[in-house]
Amino acid sequence: MPPLKISRFYIFIAIILILLTGCRASATPTFTAAAPTTPTTVVTELPPTLEMKAEPGAPGLGDSLYPHLGNAGYDVQHYTLDLTVNDVATSDLEGTTIIEARATQNLSSFNLDFIGFEITTILVNDKPAEFQRSWQELTVTPPGVLAENEPFTVEVQYQGSPGEMDSMAIQIQTGWITFDGGSFVLSEPDGAASFYPVNDHPLDKATYTFRVTVPEPFEAAANGVLKETIDNGDTTTFLFEARDPMASYLATVNIDEFDLETSQSEGGVPIRNYYPSGLPEEMRKPFARQGEMIDYFSDLFGDYPFELYGALVIDLEFGAALETQTLSIFSKAMIDANQPEGSEQVVAHELAHQWFGDSVSLADWRDIWLNESFATYAQGLWTEHTRGREELDEWVRRLYAFVREERESMSPPGEPPGDRLFNQGVYSWGALCLHALRLEVGDENFFDILKTYHERFADGNARTADFIAVAEEVSGKELSAFFDSWLYSEELAPIPGMGLEAK
Ligand code: ZN
Repeated sequence: MPPLKISRFYIFIAIILILLTGCRASATPTFTAAAPTTPTTVVTELPPTLEMKAEPGAPGLGDSLYPHLGNAGYDVQHYTLDLTVNDVATSDLEGTTIIEARATQNLSSFNLDFIGFEITTILVNDKPAEFQRSWQELTVTPPGVLAENEPFTVEVQYQGSPGEMDSMAIQIQTGWITFDGGSFVLSEPDGAASFYPVNDHPLDKATYTFRVTVPEPFEAAANGVLKETIDNGDTTTFLFEARDPMASYLATVNIDEFDLETSQSEGGVPIRNYYPSGLPEEMRKPFARQGEMIDYFSDLFGDYPFELYGALVIDLEFGAALETQTLSIFSKAMIDANQPEGSEQVVAHELAHQWFGDSVSLADWRDIWLNESFATYAQGLWTEHTRGREELDEWVRRLYAFVREERESMSPPGEPPGDRLFNQGVYSWGALCLHALRLEVGDENFFDILKTYHERFADGNARTADFIAVAEEVSGKELSAFFDSWLYSEELAPIPGMGLEAK
């Protein structure tokens, strides 16, 4: 048939189809093509649409510990969080989050994770969308089908104060937390939904813009580079850009009055530390060697993965720190001036997470040891660097004795229970696994393994099997029995090279 006839034929079919789907409204979520602009478009795009069906995106990503976290059917590229905090004492705020995403299937509806607030409007591609809420699941039904591979935007407007939320994983408050004098965000693993609508799983990493407006004299600090500070008279707007892909739980917004201290590592990584104004000098000391740490870990693990780094101290006495990307946060209790050595280790721990946890992210929360054991072992590596190999060996002996004694309170590193994700099994026991691996394959192979693993999965996600594969590839050794005994056995494995045994 001559091409012209084909075109006419398909245009005819297209018109019938558009009329039909238009009449049936949204009863069956049939895919409707965008209005064709030329006959060629019709010819190439119409035939597949005859079979295409649109389905709701699944309300979870099937994580093995937290199956409902995250959502399927789309992939977020960028979040823009515009938060105007009207009252710092209650965190009463007006928020607009704009999500730029791409559909990974034909979507009739999709879910976001979002807790609390009053939602005033949701727009999809600038058109009002319907929505329903059930606990943290926010189901959005756009006016038309979103086609596979096509980009789309979601704008969610909301207001209220973030509610207190309990994590499924840990018995302390998580998410956006208001305290006397300010607020902070500490979301691992499931608190991000407490302040923005999100695909809340590390599998869907994205870049972020934060536009935070606070009343004078408060200031805001978030991940990434401070691009602009706008004086609006009674309020100030802080604009941050985080240009490297980031897992949702690593997004942080902190409000207080800060002393900002900027510097640079010798290797050239910019550092900015946010201390609550008036924080005593001795509580800033644990951060004094951050530049050296960045350069040392860059030697060991590969170049520092992000644009800048820094620490933020929360003006609150409770025990928590988090490796929030490019800006780790530390409560005051974690940087106790009476424990200078321990405090410096916490600083090393959160920094090491920038490579292991942030740049290389989990694909499943069950593999949390890939974050925590690596960051814990980095504390030992910092001890070795600053105080010598004997001190590292001493550190390992103490850790071994601790795990042996407290064994009952821990899970094997590779099998954490969902309600005690951060038990010491994934920190101390797993760190011993890494030291044992080092003795098993030798220093050269061991550090080559860490570098190769980081290089291969930087800005992405990895599972335990990926790390084991790298370890075997680099060392040339078969290591499945080794890792089984360290990650999944109920018994603490021996470290023969040091004469350490569980009995
Ligand atoms: Zn950690």
